[in-house]
Amino acid sequence: MKRVKLRKKSIVVLIIIILVVVIEIVNPIKLYNKYQLRNLNYSEASIENILKNNLKKEVLELSYNKTLDIVFQSNDFKLDNFGIYKDLTYYELDDYTKNVNILIEKGYNKEEINYILRSATNESLKVFLEKDYMENVSKFLEYDFAKLENMDRYIKYQNEHNIDKELVVIYVNIGLDKEFYKDVKTTNKFSYDMLVNKYNGVLEEFIPDNLVDVPSEYGTKQKLNEETLKAFIKMAEDCKAATNYKILVRSGYRDYAEQEKTYNTYLKTYGKTYAENYVAHPGYSEHHTGLAIDVKAESTDVFANSKESSWVYENAYKYGFILRYKKSDENITGIKYESWHFRYVGEEIAKYIHEHEMTYEEYYVRFIENK
Ligand SMILES: [Zn+2]
Repeated sequence: MKRVKLRKKSIVVLIIIILVVVIEIVNPIKLYNKYQLRNLNYSEASIENILKNNLKKEVLELSYNKTLDIVFQSNDFKLDNFGIYKDLTYYELDDYTKNVNILIEKGYNKEEINYILRSATNESLKVFLEKDYMENVSKFLEYDFAKLENMDRYIKYQNEHNIDKELVVIYVNIGLDKEFYKDVKTTNKFSYDMLVNKYNGVLEEFIPDNLVDVPSEYGTKQKLNEETLKAFIKMAEDCKAATNYKILVRSGYRDYAEQEKTYNTYLKTYGKTYAENYVAHPGYSEHHTGLAIDVKAESTDVFANSKESSWVYENAYKYGFILRYKKSDENITGIKYESWHFRYVGEEIAKYIHEHEMTYEEYYVRFIENK
C-alpha cells in the first residue's frame, strides 16, 4: 500500500513539473496577448515592444493606431513620449519617431506637432528641426494648405501687412511676397487645372494636349485645346440663343515665339509699365496652355459693353470658364483687369470659383497644389 501511495505522489509531482515547463515554454498568456494585438493588425515587431513596455492594456484600448505601430517598431521609441505618440496622426516622413522626439524635446505640444508634420516635407522638416522653438506655429499651420518651409515668410508677411492670417498663408503660398518672374516654377505637363501666372510658367517647347483649329465661324486662324473649344462652342451657341449674338475667339493658343512678339510689340509701342501690366512674359501666358480665350462680341467691338458679355459673365461657369483677371483681383493676379479673358478649368472648378468669388490663384493654393 505504501509503495502505491508513493508512486501516486511522484506521478502528481511529475505532472506538475511537466505542466510548469509547458506553461513556461508555450506561455499561453503571452500567446493570448499577442493574439489580441495581432487581431488589431499590429506588426510583430511592434507587438514585441508593446509587451516589453507593458503597454498592452493601453494599446488595446486605442484599437489600431498607425502612429503607434510605427513608433513601436522604431529603435527611437521612448516610453516617456507614449502619451504624445498616441495622439499623433501618422504622416509618411523619414525618421518619424526620431523627429517627433526632437519636436517634443523642443517643447512643441501634440497639436503643434500634428500641424508641423502635416505641413512638412522631409526637406522642410530637416530645416525646421534645426531652429529653436517657434511660438504660435499653429496660428499659420492650422490651415491644411500651409507649408512648413514658408513659416518665416508667413511671419514676415504678417508683420508687413495687416491682414487676416489665413490670407497671409494664401498670399505667401501664391508667392505675392516675391517679385514677379523671380524664383519661378516651370512645367512641361499639361492639365486642365494647371496654373500659369507670373510665378508659374511653362517651358518654351510646351504644347497643350489635343490642340485643334477653331472652326472659322468661331474665330479667325485660332487654335485651342479640344475640350476647351467644345465648351466654348456650346457657350457661344447658347449665348446666341439668349442674346441673338454669338461670341467669338479673338485670341486662343499662343506659343512662346508669338507671346514674345506680342510682348515686344507692347514694349515698343506703350513702354515697359504698360507692357508688364497687360502682357505676360513668354512662357508665363495662359494663352500658351490652349485653355485661355480672349472673347470677342459679335455685336460690338468693346466686349465689356456688349449684350453678349452680360450673358457670359453670368453663365460662363456653367461651361467650365472663369473670368480670369477681375478688377478686384489685380493685386493677386498681377494682371490689369481684362473683361475679355476667360480660362477653361472645367465645370466643377468653375462653379466653385463662381460661387466663392475667388481668384484661380487662391483656388489652386487651397485645393490643387497639395493634392
Ligand atoms: Zn488673354
